[in-house]
Amino acid sequence: MILGHCHPRIVASLQRATENGSSFGAPTELEITLAEMVVAAVPSIEMVRMVSSGTEATMSAIRLARGYTGRDKIIKFSGCYHGHADSLLVKAGSGAATFGVPDSPGVPKDFAQHTLTATFNDLESVKELITDHSGDVACIIVEPIAGNMGTVPPRAGFLEGLREICTNEGIILIFDEVMTGFRVAYGGAQERYGITPDMTTLGKIIGGGLPVGAFGGKREIMQQLSPSGGVYQAGTLSGNPLAMTAGIETLKLLQEDGFYSRLEEKSRALAEGIADAARRAGYPIYSTRVGSMFCAFFTNGEVHDWTSAAKCDTKSFATFFRSMLEEGIYLAPSQFETAFVSIAHSSEDIEKTIAAAFSCFKKL
Ligand code: PLP
Repeated sequence: MILGHCHPRIVASLQRATENGSSFGAPTELEITLAEMVVAAVPSIEMVRMVSSGTEATMSAIRLARGYTGRDKIIKFSGCYHGHADSLLVKAGSGAATFGVPDSPGVPKDFAQHTLTATFNDLESVKELITDHSGDVACIIVEPIAGNMGTVPPRAGFLEGLREICTNEGIILIFDEVMTGFRVAYGGAQERYGITPDMTTLGKIIGGGLPVGAFGGKREIMQQLSPSGGVYQAGTLSGNPLAMTAGIETLKLLQEDGFYSRLEEKSRALAEGIADAARRAGYPIYSTRVGSMFCAFFTNGEVHDWTSAAKCDTKSFATFFRSMLEEGIYLAPSQFETAFVSIAHSSEDIEKTIAAAFSCFKKL
């Protein structure tokens, strides 16, 4: 909710759109408008398909990558979350993960065995998997800024290295920008870091708070998708006029002059303020931030992958979470969630949060 809740322009546009019908099970002009805005914004996207959630976006992007390459294996990173499709629910953070052990009851081992798990920020771990499965890897899917193990920025050279490996091996590089898309820059993490993947998945912001997802990429790949190609994908509610309306209106607001610099400044003030409050209270944390995504890791050490993130003191985080709630501040309820700042957060909100954090750190 990069604009906060109930932004008056989103509410008004949705009220108007509802009167024109909420679902047609067919493309509408609104879908085309949002698609054109996405293509104009995101460097890697030449063609885009709307779906109804981030999970559908990653699931369909992977099917397309497999169909396009004719290969079965996929590589993901420990601690990265890409929605709840079976093949993506593969255990993070343990050696067994590399061999495709399912993370959730209900995921057959046979499905999970095609998912190989590498270590975020570690190109060697990727190269080893590719050597072991030479010619079998269809795609590498990565959150360019990991946001589901707290916030873990890519180290210098990591995304560049993935790009190079994929180009050399004929592997499709998928940036899962469901979280980072239109958040860390209008064109997402790929604009911020200047690395262009082959495919991109989106969600969250492009629906302005309504159920949405999208995946897109190079024309040559996207043309393999049904109906122009053989890889099947469809959805009754995809491109839904209400979600499209909220998305279009959101993107228009994001295009306003200075939007991202104002958001950056609020985010800097809040993340640095919380880190400073922790220092003053004598409670050590490791603080990370990219744009309006940040995390206070309850650990002394640097966090750069799932193994280092998993060392956090989650019990103390839980205590901190509850005492912040008592102060009227509702944080994301897990150490491994990213905190997001919206443009609606005021200076008073930020000051109040920092003051509450100081008193809650002191109690730990
Ligand atoms: N990919 C990433 C990076 C996400 O953060 C999420 C959800 O948080 C998803 C995919 C799945 O999106 P959804 O919850 O809309 O299915």
